[in-house]
Amino acid sequence: MNATLIRSNTKRALPEGPIVFWFAAIVALTVFSIDAFTSLDIAVAVFYVVVVLLVASSGSDLAVMGATVIVAMLTLAGFLISHDSDYAGGAIARCVLSLLAIGSTSILSLRNLSNTARLLEQIDMLNLTHDAVLVVDLEGRVTFWNHGAESLYGWSAEQALGQRIHELTQTRAALPLDEIHAKLLDSGSWSGELQRVRRDGRTVTVMSRVAVWRDAKGAPRAILATNNDITLQKRMANEIEAQQAELRAAIDTIPGMVWSASGDGDVVYVNRRWQESGVDTEGRGADLWDAVVHPDDLGAMRRDWLDALRSGSALDNMSRVRQRDGGYRWMHIAAEPLRDADCAVRRWYGVNTDVEARKRAEDALTRSEAFLVDAQRLSKTGSIGIEAVHGKMIWSAEAYRIFGYEPSPALTPGLALILERTHPEDRRQVEIAHGAAMATPLVDLKYRLIMPDGELKYVHYVAHSGPPLSTDLNYVGALMDVTSSQRTQEALTRSMAELAHATRMTTLGEMAASMAHEVTQPMAAVITSGDAALRWLGRPEPDIGEVSRSIGQMIHSARRANDIVRQIRAMARKRPSALSRVSLVEMVEEAVSMMAPELVRHGVICEVQPPPDAIHVHADSVQIQQVVVNLLLNAAQAMADLPGKPHRIVISISAPREGSVDLRIEDSGNGVPEDVRERLFTPFFTTKTNGMGMGLSICRSIIEAHGGRITLEDSLAAGARFLITLPLDAEKKENNP
Ligand code: ADP
Repeated sequence: MNATLIRSNTKRALPEGPIVFWFAAIVALTVFSIDAFTSLDIAVAVFYVVVVLLVASSGSDLAVMGATVIVAMLTLAGFLISHDSDYAGGAIARCVLSLLAIGSTSILSLRNLSNTARLLEQIDMLNLTHDAVLVVDLEGRVTFWNHGAESLYGWSAEQALGQRIHELTQTRAALPLDEIHAKLLDSGSWSGELQRVRRDGRTVTVMSRVAVWRDAKGAPRAILATNNDITLQKRMANEIEAQQAELRAAIDTIPGMVWSASGDGDVVYVNRRWQESGVDTEGRGADLWDAVVHPDDLGAMRRDWLDALRSGSALDNMSRVRQRDGGYRWMHIAAEPLRDADCAVRRWYGVNTDVEARKRAEDALTRSEAFLVDAQRLSKTGSIGIEAVHGKMIWSAEAYRIFGYEPSPALTPGLALILERTHPEDRRQVEIAHGAAMATPLVDLKYRLIMPDGELKYVHYVAHSGPPLSTDLNYVGALMDVTSSQRTQEALTRSMAELAHATRMTTLGEMAASMAHEVTQPMAAVITSGDAALRWLGRPEPDIGEVSRSIGQMIHSARRANDIVRQIRAMARKRPSALSRVSLVEMVEEAVSMMAPELVRHGVICEVQPPPDAIHVHADSVQIQQVVVNLLLNAAQAMADLPGKPHRIVISISAPREGSVDLRIEDSGNGVPEDVRERLFTPFFTTKTNGMGMGLSICRSIIEAHGGRITLEDSLAAGARFLITLPLDAEKKENNP
């Protein structure tokens, strides 16, 4: 590139124009003076060429033409002045030569100007482009720098021209610059990204396209480069790349096997999770499913997938998917279609989610539900749940069955339905129990149901409220159909009563002799007192005082006999159990007095140690007395064969704890041997030759029916000590003796 081009790069019109014209005028006048007024035999006028060239340097073709005309006229004028009428052949030749020189110089200058104008236009066009266009020589010095380069790098053409481009812009590239230069010279062109620093210090990334300009002989002369600022694109590309990388990482991290398929179902992308299947997914397309889905699930999966592909609706399938170890895990295979503007499915995006744990939990739940339903059916126990917030009641299938309803959406479980089936006498307590359920930590209620066909059912309802057991249930109850056990219990109670009666009769039988004796005594006393009364009356002067004393004794003895007979009859009477509030001490003392003749017969001294305060229990006095009599009889019998020892029974009553009373019966026999202790209360266990072995067993049944306990205690003395504990507030047990 020559200097003119460099200059033209920035200046279209030369500012030194007027000076050139002045200078050209001086040269023209000087040549004219020498030509016209000296007699030199040389073609001085040839020097007008200089004038034409000077004017041409102004760049104006009009000026060139004007100057040409002027200097041609000056040449002719100079010729005419210097030669008058003497026109020598040589002079004419010099004149013609000068004119020819002037003319040809003028033509060349005009052509040159026209070329230059065209070049300038091209440069202007180069300046019009937004691309930075620059030319450097083989040393890397800038020789051309268009407007685009000025705005890209911030340096003006004046500042850039002559500078080494790489130093000026601190060029950096992926390859060493020398290597790029060598490649460029070798191949003639190069393109690539460069990083350069602008004048304001900002680094820009440019796409540089470089070509070598060679001369006619092919020698490299200069390097032409076009640079585009791609900083923004680069940043955006980096950003997009980073976003894509992040998206890829996110997709790879998603706890699921992500995939996408073409509109016709060819799997075209899978995320990294698919590696866990141990299957080479590459290029499998639609056959991928054959490789990963369990053979047993493949048919259904393919069907679902085909349906989705045909209908364009979402895929929703549950299949076992292969794992690296060859095993399978349950996965939820789901995909959604992506449609284009014409609603045609362009892509499918899917994800296989591992639902193995959920599936197992569901299976376990189904199993345990089946267990529960089965267990509820077998145990005839239904569940009732209440959602406190909405007051919604939930019944299990068995609860429906117990209440005698068919589950149906039209039927809303609730208290009304329960009351409809409840025995009229029990409705009130059911209402109260349900009303208080939320406030009471535990509801325990037995009541009766009457089915539409008149069938009577006994149910035991236990419910628990308090801290929520689950998110929506605050109250859970168990409803047990205890009809059959109630009937069994009733039968058992009846048998127990029969048995108790039988044992009482046996006991009475055992005591018959002493009791007969006990009755004959007061009867004999009645007779004696009657005789005495008669005698007192038979006196000449009847002693009325003695008579009335004797009659008094008769009445007392008769009462005594009557009492004994009453007690025996009470013991012998067969009657249902009846609870009443009775004084424990009185009850015990009565039993002792009934036993008195038998005790006397065995030479036993019985001592009752009552508590300081009266103690009442709710009990069937005949049954409790049967227990006491039984224990006293056992004690008397245990001591019967021990002649050397004192025969003593101590009965103590105390209430050491609130709500219960202890009744101890201790004898001075040899106690219960260790090996016998365990079986003591077992029915038909006896160590006696004539024993039935039912006494203690009946005692335990009676005491437990009263809500108490009977145990054999360790006694400090050698004898046996039985402890009976009874609840003091036995009123509540009234219905369950
Ligand atoms: P039975 O009196 O018909 O044997 P029980 O059930 O009343 O039936 O008593 C079972 C057994 O318990 C008796 O055979 C006896 O061995 C033992 N036993 C009961 N009371 C006493 C006692 N006070 N001292 C020692 N052994 C006793």
